[in-house]
Parts: sequence; structure tokens; C-alpha cells
Amino acid sequence: MNSLLATYNRSKLSFSSGQGAYLFTPNKKRYLDFASGIGVNSLGHNHPHLVKVLNEQSKKIWHCSNMYQIALQEKAAKRLVKSTFADSVFFCNSGAEAIEAGIKMVRRFFFQQHKEKKYRIICMGNAFHGRTFAAISASGQRKMLEGFGPALQGFDHVEFGNLRAVRNKINKKTAAILVEPIQGEGGVNVASRDYMRALRRLANEKKLLLFFDEVQCGVGRSGKFSAHEWSGIKPDIMSIAKGIGGGFPVGACLVTRKVSRCMNQGTHGSTYGGNPLAMAVVNGVLDIIPKKKFLTNVCLLGDLLKKDLYDIQKKYPNIISGIRGVGLMLGLQCVVPNTIFLQSLRKNGLLAATAGENVIRLLPPLNITKKHITEAIKIIDKSAKGLC
Ligand SMILES: *Cc1c(COP(=O)(O)O)cnc(C)c1O
Repeated sequence: MNSLLATYNRSKLSFSSGQGAYLFTPNKKRYLDFASGIGVNSLGHNHPHLVKVLNEQSKKIWHCSNMYQIALQEKAAKRLVKSTFADSVFFCNSGAEAIEAGIKMVRRFFFQQHKEKKYRIICMGNAFHGRTFAAISASGQRKMLEGFGPALQGFDHVEFGNLRAVRNKINKKTAAILVEPIQGEGGVNVASRDYMRALRRLANEKKLLLFFDEVQCGVGRSGKFSAHEWSGIKPDIMSIAKGIGGGFPVGACLVTRKVSRCMNQGTHGSTYGGNPLAMAVVNGVLDIIPKKKFLTNVCLLGDLLKKDLYDIQKKYPNIISGIRGVGLMLGLQCVVPNTIFLQSLRKNGLLAATAGENVIRLLPPLNITKKHITEAIKIIDKSAKGLC
């Protein structure tokens, strides 16, 4: 009998240690980790700076209620504000919680204006926002909602990337538009700059809030601190998680002044959100990722990896039919089933992730080097060849 709830289809692999871009099994077999715990280990495994800040904090204070001042939380919030469009930050413990906070803020924002009939959020097809009730309702995918109905109401779904569909869906009850600037689970689908800009214009015109889920594509993954910076526009609300903790569970919802004003005392909370251990690590991550030099390097590495992937695609058109993505969030459109390709990569020592639309997703640590790219490309080449 399985003592764990069987909600995951787990591989037989397990890892007992990690170093940089590598993971090691208990019998010391080495894997190159280009999945990073699904975009979580943004600075790789066992990063000396993160280990140091977490260790040091562990000897001072682990937990402290939000009833008190938490200096590290204020410091992290100030730095996130400095690195983004936002004026204030709410800390929580996961991506889904960061989405939940954003959805609550959308509703509360209009309630404060005595427009409580405006509560509906336009969401995208193939979206993934997490597994809480509000998040599965916003994701709207039948397989996630099956058996959990009735879904939380207030979410309308349109095709990702289709501006006219968004425009047609807007009515007097519409409050916000929620979109991942780069869909992760959905298949590494990049929203075009024109689409992103048009969403901002539409939101302004119809007085809607624009809400970005950057849980996966944010925090440097795209080569900008926030992925939406590529389109030169700003949201009103943004959720982040994954990469901002580098492996420590933490999430955050970032908002403008206009939105933050609706969330007064008692309207939201979290026991652990912004806890000193998490905040020590977040500050550690913020010591590194927002630096211009670091982000430029993510762009360079991403371009290099993408170029090599295009070469592989040309070599094995019957295995891989396309490459997509931005920075170090890349997808290989597979012709063979992506699960078969994933197994083959794994057998050859490379860890990747699958995504929707039969895609293999590469989310390496953001601090890899060219050497890791060369190694990964060799394995991808060998795996594709093995499937021919
Ligand atoms: C992973 C993910 C979430 C959910 O995050 P959890 O920490 O698993 O709750 C939400 N949105 C996106 C885009 C994600 O990739």
C-alpha cells in the first residue's frame, strides 16, 4: 500500500544531493538538471550564498508572526518594488496562494468602488494557475476540475493569444484579465508583444485590472526580471513564486498603489507568509538575479541554447518539429510522444519536464554556463538519434 496520496505519477528516480546544475542519486549517478524542480532552483542546487543566508538565519529566528515587524520581509518587499512595476507586496508560500491573493484583490478592488457586480475575470485557455479551488477554476481545464465541481464562479475563458476573443468576452461584470506572459504547463506559449500591449490598452479602455501570472516565467527566467518587461507594459497585479525562493517555498503577490489601497487591515493574511527563513532566502536570491549582468547572461545563454536546439531540430525533423520560448524557458515541440522523449533524455542523464501540446520543457538553473549547454545538447542529440 502506498502511504502517500497517489496524486503524482512518480518516476523511480530519487536524489540525495545536488550541486549546481547537477543532481545525484543515492548511488551517485549524476544527472544534469534542466528542469530545476519545475523552474524553482533558479540558482541551481546547494548554491553557496543561499546555503549561507539560510544557515545564518536558522540560528537567529525561524518563525515570527506577522503581528510583529519583520525587517527581512520589509527589505525583500522594498527590493521587489525596486525591481518591478509594483508599489507593494504580499508574501505567501506558493504560486497558487499568490494567485489566490490576486483574485481576492481583483474582487475587493471593485467592491471598494461600490461595483461589487464587477467580479468576473477573463482567463486563457491552456492556463495553469495552481491547485487551490480558485486557481483550478481560473485555470479552467476540465481535467483539473473533474470531480471537484461546482467550480468557483466568476471566470470566463478565451483562447490564449486571441485579442478579439478577449474583447468579445468583456461585459459589464468583467473586472480583470489574467494571463501568463509565457504559459508554462500549457506548452511554453509566448504571448506576443503586440498581444500584451493590446491587453494593456484594452484594460485601460474598459477600466479592468491586468493581472499577470509570472509564477514560472518571472524572476529572471525570461532574461528580464519580469517577463512582461519584454513588451514594455506593466500589469496592475503580478503573482510570482517558484524562482524567487530558489527552492524555499515562498510566493508573492505584487500590486500597484491603486490596488493595494483596497486591502486594509484584516482583509487577507497568512501565518507563514513572509517568514524570516523564507525572507532570508528571498533576499539571497535578490542579491543575485536582478543584477543587469546576471540577466544579460541569462539572455546570452538562452540564445545559445536556442540556436543549438534549432540545429538539433533541423537534424531530426521527425523527432522535433519546433523550438519556442524566451531566455531559459524553452520548449521543444515533439513529433514523438513527449513522455517517450523525456524518458530517453533521462536515460542519457538529462532531466527535463513535459508540458502541454506535446512539448518538452527546458528550465535550467539561470546560472548555468556554456559547458552545461554543450553537455545538454549532446544528450538531446543522442536521445533524438536513439528515437529515429
Ligand atoms: C507552478 C505554477 C503555479 C502554481 O504554483 P504552486 O507553487 O504549485 O502553487 C501557478 N502558476 C503558474 C504559471 C505556475 O507555473
